[in-house]
Amino acid sequence: MRLSRYFLPVLKENPAEAQIASHRLMLRAGMIKQSSAGIYSWLPMGFKILRKLENIVHEEQVRAGHIPMLMPTLQSADLWRESGRYEAYGQEMLRIKDRQDRDMLYGPTNEELITDIFRNHVGSYKDLPLTLYHIQWKFRDEIRPRFGVMRGREFFMKDGYNFDIDRCSAMHAYNRHLVSYLRTYERMGLKAIPMRADSGPIGGEDTHEFLVLADTGESEVFYDSAILDLKIGDRALDYDNQDQCAAIFKEWTTPYARTDETHEHEVFAQIPDERRKSSRGIEVGQIFYFGTKYSESMGADVVKDTGERVPVHMGSHGIGVSRLIGAIIEASHDDNGIIWPEGVTPFHCGIVNLKQGDPETDAACEALYLGVMALGLEPLYDDRSERAGGKFATMDLIGLPWRITVGPRGLKNGVIELTSRRTGDSEEMPVENALARIAQIYNPCT
Ligand code: ATP
Ligand code: MG
Repeated sequence: MRLSRYFLPVLKENPAEAQIASHRLMLRAGMIKQSSAGIYSWLPMGFKILRKLENIVHEEQVRAGHIPMLMPTLQSADLWRESGRYEAYGQEMLRIKDRQDRDMLYGPTNEELITDIFRNHVGSYKDLPLTLYHIQWKFRDEIRPRFGVMRGREFFMKDGYNFDIDRCSAMHAYNRHLVSYLRTYERMGLKAIPMRADSGPIGGEDTHEFLVLADTGESEVFYDSAILDLKIGDRALDYDNQDQCAAIFKEWTTPYARTDETHEHEVFAQIPDERRKSSRGIEVGQIFYFGTKYSESMGADVVKDTGERVPVHMGSHGIGVSRLIGAIIEASHDDNGIIWPEGVTPFHCGIVNLKQGDPETDAACEALYLGVMALGLEPLYDDRSERAGGKFATMDLIGLPWRITVGPRGLKNGVIELTSRRTGDSEEMPVENALARIAQIYNPCT
């Protein structure tokens, strides 16, 4: 993409309404524009990252054997009356009437809708286990929308639902989700810690929240710092292997890690002093096992091989896709702007032309631009007639992990400069070497 043709409305000044870094930087980097409280338009740069995160979530869910689908944002109130949550959900639910005076609502979550689909189409144990998910906009009329996309009213969420014949099979689904979520966050360059939590209005017994540590997080968390050393990495995973998933679950849930709702002082006090930590955290996901809560109230049962009819065991699992963008920025920025992890960066590298209009510099930039694209990667080429300082400030603000700077002085010696956004380190090298480095960074197999 050529910056001269892109739509990147960066702001020079810090917007007064933004209290935290991620909100400020998303506005300044031209990623979002508020349309009303807690509701945003996703401008091209923000939308690009949203799509990248969505794709990572899809890839990891499909890898775990979960099936994508799409349910609507607007739902009929009738299903929620069956489960008893129409009244129980309270004012966070946006209630709407259609022209026939029917009660509708903008879905805050989808347990009722999916249970209805299930009971209409599945009746036998032979169709289980089954996990369906979608990534769709949600609406919760939050009392205090704030921090930009972190606590929006309209937000983008992956929600998945497992249907299993018994508790044992449902617990495998629970563990599988934990593993797939850990992998998802790691690919986004994030450390998200699963913490034992409280189930709230979703209901149920077992639940873990995934928290990214950040001073600006809304949750208070307590943990054994040993958990920070754990990594899924690229170990071979077999999601059908119950023992392997259970072992990873155990590995990640043995060190103490709790939100304030489930915190136990006595247990916490037993952790050695230097590993006993408390801080703030951002909730980026949650998994639940809630047994037969919805299947019993809504009549979702299956016939077992013995002929007996039993309600299915269910769980639900959510990832806050739009909130994740804020969480990544909170975890990865400096005074000059965002620092995107390579796994989610909107463009793979930036190209800065130091002397737009100089035939030799322009030609070198064009060649580089085509060269990066030929690698199957996306460069953002700043081809505007701006001063170098302004170009650097924009690149730093939008946070592409690698910047290639091209100017007449370097070209005389046959070199350009490759700069890491994270470390600020620069290296001069011939164009071919820069291309080889970029190729290697994004695709270490080549
Ligand atoms: P919170 O406690 O932050 O209000 P929640 O526990 O009510 O969130 P869940 O029902 O667990 O939310 O939804 C799954 C995920 O969706 C959350 O882990 C979070 O990442 C995201 N999410 C929830 N509410 C919002 C919101 N208002 N804005 C952005 N993301 C949200
Ligand atoms: Mg939650």
